[in-house]
Amino acid sequence: MHKISKIGVLTSGGDAPGMNPCIRAVVRTAIYNGLQVVGIRQGYKGMIENDMYDMETRSVSNILSLGGTILKTARCNEFRTDEGMETAYKNIKAHGIDGLVVIGGDGTFTGALRFSQKHPDIAVIGIPGTIDNDLYGSTYTLGFDTATNTVIEAIDKIRDTADSHDRLFFIEVMGRDSGAIALRAGISCGAEAILLPEKSTAIDDLIKSLKEGQLNKKSSSIVIVAEGDKSGGIYDLAKAVQKEVKNYDIKVTILGHLQRGGSPSSFDRVLGSRLGFAAVNALIAGHSQKMVGLSANFIKLTTLEEALTEHEFKLEPDLLKMMEVLSI
Ligand code: ATP
Repeated sequence: MHKISKIGVLTSGGDAPGMNPCIRAVVRTAIYNGLQVVGIRQGYKGMIENDMYDMETRSVSNILSLGGTILKTARCNEFRTDEGMETAYKNIKAHGIDGLVVIGGDGTFTGALRFSQKHPDIAVIGIPGTIDNDLYGSTYTLGFDTATNTVIEAIDKIRDTADSHDRLFFIEVMGRDSGAIALRAGISCGAEAILLPEKSTAIDDLIKSLKEGQLNKKSSSIVIVAEGDKSGGIYDLAKAVQKEVKNYDIKVTILGHLQRGGSPSSFDRVLGSRLGFAAVNALIAGHSQKMVGLSANFIKLTTLEEALTEHEFKLEPDLLKMMEVLSI
């Protein structure tokens, strides 16, 4: 176990609200403990292109309420190659960095683990920063709460117009492999149906339940479709349903990138601060190749290997069942 003296911090993959409070906590916890901190811009790209700068306490002033990430983020294919990793290693060694905090999703962790296995002299701690809430080892990931709140706010507004016109809205939300946002938003907004990547829904069943809703005098209906749903795309789905459900005027809305933006919620500010604080303390305690997460409201360390291989993160069965019951 070597003593850490200088930490590099980066954000990588998709941006997520809460990354800034997390960066702030990393920087200030490190400085509080007498360590130096280097901010690495644009994730692994900044390591390869040597785009890094010394951070001080005041470098992270007034960023708690900002969405996105002040360090910028990127997807960097060069880091997947041995040459890219070697260049990155040389650059961070030249800066005297001996500990890395990487904030991102599973791709970011895969890169961090490979890098640290090649270069065990650089200790690495991962922080789950992704709106998808799909990492094993943490009940919540950074950004999920804010993104879900953003979705809810948008759907509430759509519900107003849907109700006024007897309309059926199909609303696409983010989640290529994870239905976490769709499920929470569906329950929070009283959606009539939620289509998830984790669960196949027969179109006939959907049509049947929408028709039943009409018979039960529902004046509007909302169907939430996660990006990764396997029913063939939201437009085709809406067309197929329109043929059968004639009394509703069907509209499609794709919420898109607005879901990533916005000021982090209180939950994500606190979560980001906790995880940033915990990540630096884990490095100081000599840990490496681990992820800091939240489990039963306590900080938990999970090996990156486990976080990556055991990603059988399942949606809560009670929420799935409740959805059917409460939408009658
Ligand atoms: P999100 O969940 O928001 O998509 P992510 O971290 O999963 O975030 P990715 O684009 O999958 O986002 O990964 C981020 C970066 O991690 C990649 O651009 C690449 O630089 C690095 N990375 C991913 N997989 C590997 C790998 N197998 N080897 C090395 N680096 C990798």
